[in-house]
This record gives sequence, C-alpha cells and structure tokens, in this order.
Amino acid sequence: MIIKPNEISELIKEQIKSYSHKLETTDVGSVVSIGDGVSTVYGLDKCMLNELLEFPHGIYGMAFNLNEDSVGVVMLGSDQQIKEGDIVKRTGRIVEVPVGDALLGRVVNSLGQPLDGLGDIKCSAHRPIERIAPGVMTRKSVSVPPQTGIKAIDAMIPIGRGQRELIIGDRQTGKTAIALDTIINQKGKNCYCIYVAIGQKNSTVAHLVEKLKKAGAMDYTVVVSATASELAPLQYIAPYAGVTIAEHWMEQGKDCLVVYDDLSKHAVAYRTMALLLRRAPGREAFPGDVFYLHSRLLERACRVNEENGGGSITALPIIETQAGDISAYIPTNVISITDGQIFLQTELFNAGQRPAIDSGLSVSRVGSAAQIKAMKQVAGSLKIELANYRELQAFSQFGSDLDAETKKVLNHGEKLMEVLKQNQYSPYSTNRQIIELFAAKNRFIDDLETASVKKSLDDLFDDISLNHHDILDELDAKKVISNELDAHMKEVMSVFFNKLK
Ligand code: ATP
Ligand code: MG
Repeated sequence: MIIKPNEISELIKEQIKSYSHKLETTDVGSVVSIGDGVSTVYGLDKCMLNELLEFPHGIYGMAFNLNEDSVGVVMLGSDQQIKEGDIVKRTGRIVEVPVGDALLGRVVNSLGQPLDGLGDIKCSAHRPIERIAPGVMTRKSVSVPPQTGIKAIDAMIPIGRGQRELIIGDRQTGKTAIALDTIINQKGKNCYCIYVAIGQKNSTVAHLVEKLKKAGAMDYTVVVSATASELAPLQYIAPYAGVTIAEHWMEQGKDCLVVYDDLSKHAVAYRTMALLLRRAPGREAFPGDVFYLHSRLLERACRVNEENGGGSITALPIIETQAGDISAYIPTNVISITDGQIFLQTELFNAGQRPAIDSGLSVSRVGSAAQIKAMKQVAGSLKIELANYRELQAFSQFGSDLDAETKKVLNHGEKLMEVLKQNQYSPYSTNRQIIELFAAKNRFIDDLETASVKKSLDDLFDDISLNHHDILDELDAKKVISNELDAHMKEVMSVFFNKLK
C-alpha cells in the first residue's frame, strides 16, 4: 500500500486539532467576562458544581452555574487583576475546609484560614463543605439535653442534642445573647461548639470572641467568621464550613453545637450571587432554590446511632424578622425546616422582660423527650399558666373591678414572669432552675413583692446549697422529685419564706 505524504500530514493535523480541542474544553477554560465578583468562563466541560477553579495571580473561584458551554463562577478573592481571555484551570477539588482538634479556640474564615493572628492551624484532614446528610437509618432520636442554662428555654422549650431549634426575632432582641449563653453553658459538658458569624460587623464578632474567652468558652469553641466586609461567596459557604467541621467530630462520637448567626444574611448573600449570575429571581427576588439552601444545611444536624459513632450536631440557626413578621419568605422556610422556634419579641424586650421569649409562639417539637424528669415535674404547667395570665392581662386592662380569683391568676403570672427573667452571661445549673421553678409552682413566691423575687430566689438557692445540700445531691443522682423529696423541699422552703415575712 502506498501512503501519500500529504495524507499523513492531513491525518496528523486532524489529530492535533481534535487533541488540543479536547484539552481546552475539559480542564481549561478562558474568561469571557469578569466583574462584580462573578465571572463567566468558556470551556471547562467536565467542571463539577462547587469545584475550585484556579485563576491567574493565585486567585480562586467556585463553580456556581453549570451552563451548556460556559460556567458561572463566583470569585473567592479580588477580581481586580483578572481580565478577559485569562486562562482558568480546574483543580478537581470541591471547596474544602480543614477539620480536627487543632481548630479549637481559633477564629477562622470560611475556608478555614486563621484570622486571629495565632499562627498556622495544623490540621491533618480536609473535608469538602458539601455532603449529603446522614440517612434515616443511621439516625437516633434525641434523648440528651444540651442545657442552654436559660430558665425559660430549658423549662418550656427544651432542646435535645441533635435537634434544630430556630432563634427568631427582630433586630436587637437578644438573639445572639441566647446562643452565646448556650455556648458558655456547655463548659465541662463534653460538647464542642462552632459559632458561625455571617454578614455581621467585624467589631461585633471581635466583641463576642472576647466574651467567649473571658468565660473560658474558647477552649471548646471554633468561630467561623464571614463578616459583612467579606465577599458574598465567602458568606455563602461559611455555614457549610461550620457544619463540616462539626461533622468530623460527630463521626468520632462527640456532641457538637453549631450556631448560624444569622441565616437571613446568608440568604441575602446567596441572592446577591444568584442575581449577579442572572439566575431567574422569584419571590422577594430570591432564586427559586433558596429553600434548598437552608434545608440541605440544617438536615446535616442530627444524632447518629452507635454504629455510626453516636455523636450529634445540634443546630441553632438565627433568623432576623422585620417588625415581627414571621410569615415572610425566609422565616417561614426556616420555621418549616427546623424542629421548633424560640420567638423573641421587641415589646417584651423593651418592657424589661429579658430574655424576651414569647412563650405562646415558641415551641420545641422533639426536645421534651430529652428533658429530665424533675424538670418536667416542675415546668409541666408553666406554659399554660403563662397563657392564662396573658389572656387575663389583656382582658383586665378594660375593667378595674376584678374578682379575687382573677387577681390571684394575675399575681401568680406576674411572679412567674419575674422568675423567668435572667441576666446575660449567667447560665443557671439545672438544679438551680428546678429549685426556683419548684418554689414558683408551689406558690411560695406569690406573696413576695415582685421586685424582691429575684433576690429571694438567689438567697433560697444559697441557703439550700449551704444547709440542705442533700436536696441537690438527690436531684443529681436520681433526676426526679420523689414524694419524700417533694415533702422535704416544701418544708425547707416554707421555713425559708416564712422567715422573709
Ligand atoms: P442583632 O439583631 O443586632 O444581631 P440580637 O438580636 O442578636 O441583635 P443581642 O446583640 O444578643 O441581640 O442583644 C441586644 C442587646 O440586648 C445587647 O446589648 C445585649 O447585651 C442585651 N441583652 C440581651 N439579652 C439580655 C438579657 N438577658 N439581659 C440583659 N440584657 C440583654
Ligand atoms: Mg445578633
């Protein structure tokens, strides 16, 4: 067979042509447009969703929109030096964060890089920030309380380890304060905490870290910070980074608590990215998949069974409402995803009722299984008594002549509200909560002046810890109020409150 030289060169040319074509569009692409922190890249045929892409000058981007012949990329660094036609390479890696005990006590950004100036973080393992949540069969129902240390919550809205409980309210109603007190209360309870700050002021986060340090809580806490000055994509990945860090510990059988402060700003960061990349806007200009944004995050909070490590992730997402409107788009989404909500009210907060928990609108759908028996005994009727009080209070504003029975309910309700007041940064032990609620339930405090309730209860607890420590010992050991203990506590309390008269 005779082969003509021009045929060979044709063949080679053909091969070179197709080869270079393949290389260009699978692993390498070129920038078509860049600006506002987003870029459209031609090529990158095999690119994965959320894959890290390498731009020139050591800048990275994350694949966000996978179109037929182009990829929409959000930039994870400054896009100033990048220009049209620049080469973009695939890295083959999904966005990852370092995980492990080296992170404890550190403040990191959404990519796990240190922000606190304490040097490098030496983690041996990395994990991709997106993962499918554990399935039903690997899970276990909640049965252990994390104890927030806040009387109103532990008594009426108990949370279990592995639960997702939403903290919702207007701005400046004490949302962060509840999450912070819960973290502080985990000291010595064998629970690692992760606080994710999304879209907040740098100064707020610095202040919060200072408070945690002062309370000795940084020893078991990681702060993931994506403040308002960070790019929207970094704010977007921050909560996923937080839960990924927690998942590593959960698989080793540890209990973790993750606070997302707050997911309203997270949704806004996502909206920014989606609108810049020209995804179709839906209700309130959020893209259609904004529900999935939060559901896939919060589904990762769970308690797994012993075969899978037996650890748990408790999630406390925070949502900010506008003028108390819990029926807006993002609030309703997150309410439906979580296992209950703690609703904070501006009116209560301004009236001095702090924490400003609205006991009528707050609920915990699964946590009562995790509440200890003694707490159930003293707190069982609390919600209904407060509801009675609120109803009569609204009604009594119209008339001045009230019958004795109504006055009694009003007086009791007023004292109960006083018992539920609690200062910031002072979480109460479970025993102390039980003692105070026991005194309230058995109406020992109804005859006191409202202003002196707090002081009297403080004195009562001091008296019991000094002179009747057996009560606390028995509560610690049995976690239930037996008939004998009930009688004993009543006796001690009546002696104590009689002295006050
Ligand atoms: P933002 O919407 O700005 O994030 P927030 O709802 O997170 O606000 P916080 O920052 O927690 O609210 O609290 C607002 C203010 O109320 C703070 O100054 C805080 O110190 C105070 N505060 C919160 N809880 C209590 C409390 N139990 N007792 C006294 N003061 C409190
Ligand atoms: Mg806050």
